[in-house]
Amino acid sequence: MKLGDLEFHILSDGDVWLDGGAMFGVVPKVLWERKMAPDAKNRIQLAMNCLLVRAGGKTVLIETGAGTKMNPKLRQIYGLEDSRLIGQLERYGYHNTEIDIVINTHLHFDHCGGNTRIEQDKVVCTFPNAKYVVQRGEYEHARNPNERDQASYFDENYAPLEKAGKLALLEGDRAIAPGVELIRAPGHTANMQCVKLSGGGKSAFFFADLVPTAAHLPLPWIMGYDLYPMTTLENKKKWIPELVKEGWIALFGHDARTPAGHLREKNGGFEVEPLTID
Ligand SMILES: [Zn+2]
Repeated sequence: MKLGDLEFHILSDGDVWLDGGAMFGVVPKVLWERKMAPDAKNRIQLAMNCLLVRAGGKTVLIETGAGTKMNPKLRQIYGLEDSRLIGQLERYGYHNTEIDIVINTHLHFDHCGGNTRIEQDKVVCTFPNAKYVVQRGEYEHARNPNERDQASYFDENYAPLEKAGKLALLEGDRAIAPGVELIRAPGHTANMQCVKLSGGGKSAFFFADLVPTAAHLPLPWIMGYDLYPMTTLENKKKWIPELVKEGWIALFGHDARTPAGHLREKNGGFEVEPLTID
């Protein structure tokens, strides 16, 4: 998919299966199970979508999925298969050494686990020539999570980056390459960031966990994982109508069936018209 000179592809590190109740917060199961049928363990199938972007001569990777370091017990709990990200990058002709910038929207394991990998019993940067970009507040929280969210944070996914001098910590919104803008959108965590891609008068907006799947478009359909659900609500009210009005492409971080689409208003709510990227 091209937006002027900017080019992007949607990759996925594979599926992650999370509890349906936790994914839909206060929404009763009788409503959400019609949109996403749970398995016998009440889990729903989610993708770990990542974006490969070429902009201004830079190769940018947004999100790195769960990666390869998780132990077999956790892989089973989350239904993780073998990590696919590196293979998918290679399909588009990119080697891990060719990534210039890695963006993590936040540091939950399903968004940044592929940042690092184990080589000869040592945790090393998967993308040795990249700067890894994350909000400073998210990094500080990830180093010292609370009892409610510590199951989502693993030091080995980001602490080695700081040690290696590869980490760039941002404070607020920032353009990181031509047409690649990071926009703080708190709610899921205090410092999560979304990504806006622009070029040739067109734009696409990566929602990360603000609107993780198309099923989360209705305003009250907010994840139980969110630390600040009322802030999520405010940011949904700000950004979803903006995408509708401006005709930006919506990109969903966890939707396995509809990773991209155009949003429309219908009967006072929002719906997606799926779009195939590539
Ligand atoms: Zn998350």
